[in-house]
Amino acid sequence: MKFLDARSSEIEALEAFGIKSMAVEYYQVPLAEPLVDASHGTHTFFELIVCRITGENGVEGVGYTYTGGSGGHAIYSVIADDLKPRILGKNGADIEDVWQSMQKDLHYVGRGGILSFAISAIDIALWDIRCKSLNLPLWQVLNAPSNATACYAGFIDLHLGGDELQQLVKKHMAMGQTAVKTKVGRENIAEDVERVAAIREVLGDDNALMVDANWSYTKERAIEFSNSVSKYNISWFEEPVSPDEFEDYAAIAEATDIPLAMGENLHLVEEFERAIKYSDLAYLQPDCSNIGGITGFLKVAELADKAGLKICSHGMHELHVSLLAALPHSGMLEVHSFPIDQYTISPLKIRDGQAFAPDHNGVGVIFDEAKLSPHLKMQS
Ligand SMILES: [Mg+2]
Repeated sequence: MKFLDARSSEIEALEAFGIKSMAVEYYQVPLAEPLVDASHGTHTFFELIVCRITGENGVEGVGYTYTGGSGGHAIYSVIADDLKPRILGKNGADIEDVWQSMQKDLHYVGRGGILSFAISAIDIALWDIRCKSLNLPLWQVLNAPSNATACYAGFIDLHLGGDELQQLVKKHMAMGQTAVKTKVGRENIAEDVERVAAIREVLGDDNALMVDANWSYTKERAIEFSNSVSKYNISWFEEPVSPDEFEDYAAIAEATDIPLAMGENLHLVEEFERAIKYSDLAYLQPDCSNIGGITGFLKVAELADKAGLKICSHGMHELHVSLLAALPHSGMLEVHSFPIDQYTISPLKIRDGQAFAPDHNGVGVIFDEAKLSPHLKMQS
């Protein structure tokens, strides 16, 4: 894998080990306040599924995935009931082999769906073991020049009005952000344009502003909206229409000036291949929690590199910060509104529009048991 070339000999030198045991935990973590977008309604909590793998080499790896409030129990079950018995005893040092076998064994029932989330948690745990075995943090395993990467605040803010949006932007700028993304998809285009204008007013002319419709628009509406806000210097328009309508993305790109982005709803590497081919995207936004973990994310990063596209991220910023710091073609890290990092021992550090990856050996996400355990619903 291209982005591992610098350390490929060290990785290959790691000794094979059998996957000895796996524990799975399911949490429902409340949000401080309800969050709203155009396609998923109101979020009041998020689900977190944590997978702890111990190798016969004695090293423990922790992986996880998350959802916006449904499907978490099914993901937990796929890991505990279907994947765990299949991967116990396999060589955990050969992550690619474990990844491919999980994809193949449950392909018929799980292709691209809940299975992708389940595989992600296991894959991240195996990467945690790999990085710990190398005594390095993930960003150094990937040979990053530094631990810093550009970031932005990804708001889930469709329920907020103009004044509230402006307050939200000011709050995040005071916390070190210089770029933000707002939701669109209200009743009419004029309301969406007003939201963009309100944010641009307080953000200033030089800071990046993105919009995200969560695939709630039609192609025609997307073109009309895009042309209505082009004067506000929008860095990208995210998921204007259904992620299945690849050709509609290309038609929107052809008819407008704002670059397009998507990825959070593409859960197979093959879907990214086709999106690159047919959708005329400028930014890819894979999410380690649903694209098959770090292995899946890096496969998409390679596709982006070959196509000359920027790689961004969706969600789980506490993990993606280490990946985007390392990738030479990274765009911006989404600092997501689900604060998973607040339940770790190293909440994300942000300064002057940059986020900084943690220095812990491993993938850098170490859950704070005291904070997380009150939200445990199930374990096996
Ligand atoms: Mg989005």
